Amino acid sequence: MADTDDRRGLTEAEVEQARAQAGWNELPQEPRASALAVFLRQFSSFLILILILAAAVALALGELLDAATIGLVVGLNAVLGFVQEWKAETALAALRQMLSPKAMVVRNGEEQIIPAREIVPGDLLILSPGIKIAADAELTLSTDLRTDESILTGESIPVGKSVEDAEPFVFTGTSVVSGRAEARVTAIGAQTEFGKIAGLTGAVGTKVTNLQKKLGQLARQLGLAALLVAAGVSLLGITLGRDFIEMVMTGLSLSVAMVPEGLPAVVTITLALGATAMARQNALARRLQAVETLGAASVICTDKTGTLTENKMTATRIWTADRRYDVTGTGYDPAGHIESEGIRLRAEDDPVLGALLETAIVCNHARLSQSGTSWTMMGAPTEGALVTLAYKGWCDPPGAQNLLAEIPFSSARKRMSVLYKGADRTRILSKGAPEQILEICTNIMGEAGPGPLTPTDRAAIEAAYEEMASQGLRVIALAQGDASTEQIIEERLTFLGLVGLIDPPRQEVKAAVASARSAGIRVIMITGDSPVTARAIAEQLSMEVSASLTGAELDALDDAQLTALLAQEVLFARTKPEQKMRIVAALQSKGQIVAMTGDGVNDAPALKKADIGVAMGIRGTDVARDASDLVLLDDNFATIVRAIGEGRRQFANVRKFVRYLLSSNAGEVIALVVNIAVGGPLIFLATQILWMNLVTDGVTAVALGMEKSEPDTMQHPPRDKTTPILGWSGIITILALGLYTGGSSLWIFFQLLDQGVELARTTAFTAMVVFEKVSVFAFRSLRLPGHKIGWFSNPFLLIALTATLGMQVAAVYWAPLQAMLKTVPMGGTEWLWIALFALPILIVPELLKISAAMAQRTTK
Ligand code: ATP
Repeated sequence: MADTDDRRGLTEAEVEQARAQAGWNELPQEPRASALAVFLRQFSSFLILILILAAAVALALGELLDAATIGLVVGLNAVLGFVQEWKAETALAALRQMLSPKAMVVRNGEEQIIPAREIVPGDLLILSPGIKIAADAELTLSTDLRTDESILTGESIPVGKSVEDAEPFVFTGTSVVSGRAEARVTAIGAQTEFGKIAGLTGAVGTKVTNLQKKLGQLARQLGLAALLVAAGVSLLGITLGRDFIEMVMTGLSLSVAMVPEGLPAVVTITLALGATAMARQNALARRLQAVETLGAASVICTDKTGTLTENKMTATRIWTADRRYDVTGTGYDPAGHIESEGIRLRAEDDPVLGALLETAIVCNHARLSQSGTSWTMMGAPTEGALVTLAYKGWCDPPGAQNLLAEIPFSSARKRMSVLYKGADRTRILSKGAPEQILEICTNIMGEAGPGPLTPTDRAAIEAAYEEMASQGLRVIALAQGDASTEQIIEERLTFLGLVGLIDPPRQEVKAAVASARSAGIRVIMITGDSPVTARAIAEQLSMEVSASLTGAELDALDDAQLTALLAQEVLFARTKPEQKMRIVAALQSKGQIVAMTGDGVNDAPALKKADIGVAMGIRGTDVARDASDLVLLDDNFATIVRAIGEGRRQFANVRKFVRYLLSSNAGEVIALVVNIAVGGPLIFLATQILWMNLVTDGVTAVALGMEKSEPDTMQHPPRDKTTPILGWSGIITILALGLYTGGSSLWIFFQLLDQGVELARTTAFTAMVVFEKVSVFAFRSLRLPGHKIGWFSNPFLLIALTATLGMQVAAVYWAPLQAMLKTVPMGGTEWLWIALFALPILIVPELLKISAAMAQRTTK
């Protein structure tokens, strides 16, 4: 194995060599469903099996043409189903690919983030809180490391790990709860402990969403009803003396006519395509369910730093007991300077400033590197800004060997301390939230050296802190103290000063907050930062805040008080991640659908508890991502609001095509049943019904699923959790339209009967297809008239309509299809009939929508 004892990690050549021996760091994946398997799956539905049986019966009876037609329709349906499902599968596979894990390693002496797949034995891994360990490794350096090994051992209490352990190993699949470490990879892929027990990993589950479940149920209920109605109608026909085989075939077709068999597939493809559309806008749904739930979200709980703000920190102000300093320059480029009263100062010119800058750069893990003229930063932005500040004051980074111990930063502790061996003595250097640092200080550094920290000093520090925070600056306090032991004891330190970091709000967020408000979605800020800073940022974003509460105050409330408080526009500051859980629970108890953001290890439970856990793609940890439903690839609040808009669009579209499909089916069933009851010759042949349902409707429904957002999607409150897909208004629409289309085709049929049953049937059949196509315009929006959403705004629908109408023309005029569907050519008069009856389907819903809109406007 290559030598990685030094901290430079492997070289490129060593990586190549190790890879040649050990391969890639991955477990054998369950192969993706093959195209053939997906195609064959199309034939597994119960109804299709019945149809295949029917074709066999027809064949046995010598009805070759019927058998061939059923075969053709089933085949075409399978091809369409296959194309849709394959598209959905491919879309989901691409989304999964985007979630593939990464790891931080040292190679060629540089820290780099690489896909976890590329890790080789011998690589030097850098471990920090929230990381999911991507290979088995032996610790070479560790501070306070604790890992969660529950995935291997089932033990949920974190395990302490140290280089000094008899077996200093960490394992694949476990995650870092706290501390930091470096570890040399010993095994990858299937050779790891996890690989040995995991065997084949199941592909990321595409769990069935509630919507899919509900629609599956609806389809089954309709299926059962269909079988009963079909059996009844066939029996009725047979008792009335109709031809036996004809009636059996009609019964079968009737059941096909009633069951929206395309429904579950259309929903899946709509959600999958929707998820792809969302990913393009930087919101990655880890579960399809998220897309659906998002549409109903009523509260977004968001953190501040990095989600509402840029997370690009720059130190702009310094406060010490005797002096105020301004800092120039932007970003992580150290080309700026520190000045006080117009005089530029370096660390060596001013001992207090020097001690402060030394603490800032030593008690720190961020690193700056320069490539060309641009500077990049590795690490937390708060720390990056402090390194940049130290560089601006000409203060050098410490040698790593001088750092003897560390108590790492955590969102719960809100401070960090290190033990540092300086030139003359060993000291403790601390930085953190001012409250947390003041707690451990007894002295304050002045130009004349350290002196006791008096109440007046405290008041001065607090006033300076408040003044900086009220401008939206994030304030970090710094302190030092002599170390008397080898351990870090955070007490009796000397307060050095405050640094104010600017972190401007993201540009798009203000508009997104306003959009959420007009969409009836509350935005609650939950931050670890100070209440004053949080309020200042809220104000800059025009967020309404009528009360702010710190974590400590939150702990003092009981559940009832918290619930009451949540009725106000409240903001939570100086909170610990664990407290997010309580806030989610309190909101949920009031029936709210909560989206909650999080990035750290301790955020995971709240992310799981929330209806939609939102993790950060850039700043988030693996653990938070694993617990989430949605990952923001750009960490941006505005993306959540956009994703909610997308979720709403999709739910609305599902409602549209469910109604559309069912109303088409209703028309056919009504025509068939009434026709048999009045004893007319068969209005539609079995094969024609199959053609209508399987070939033409599904395509149109998928196109309806691609409808764009309606212009007012984000101008009304979120839907109620219990909003049914259908509801009474849906059922009435379906029946009304079904009665009209069924009645009209019957009327046309009887009108033309004396010119021959073939012509009458062909016209009724074509009329039904045309009605179904025209009726789709009624469903493009359930409320808005066509001119509001734009007649041509859904090109997929126009293509689908043209294609299916073209197929119908072929069915009537093209000899092979004529033979199969038993049609005859229609003349101008028949087309005129059809057009006359189709017109009201286009006009009446439009008029109803326009008058409803007008009525709404006058009541407003
Ligand atoms: P949000 O919860 O909105 O992301 P946040 O980033 O301020 O806000 P935390 O990361 O929990 O939340 O930080 C809480 C506080 O701890 C900060 O306001 C800051 O005062 C302090 N702090 C942040 N990072 C560090 C660090 N690396 N070292 C020491 N103290 C820090």
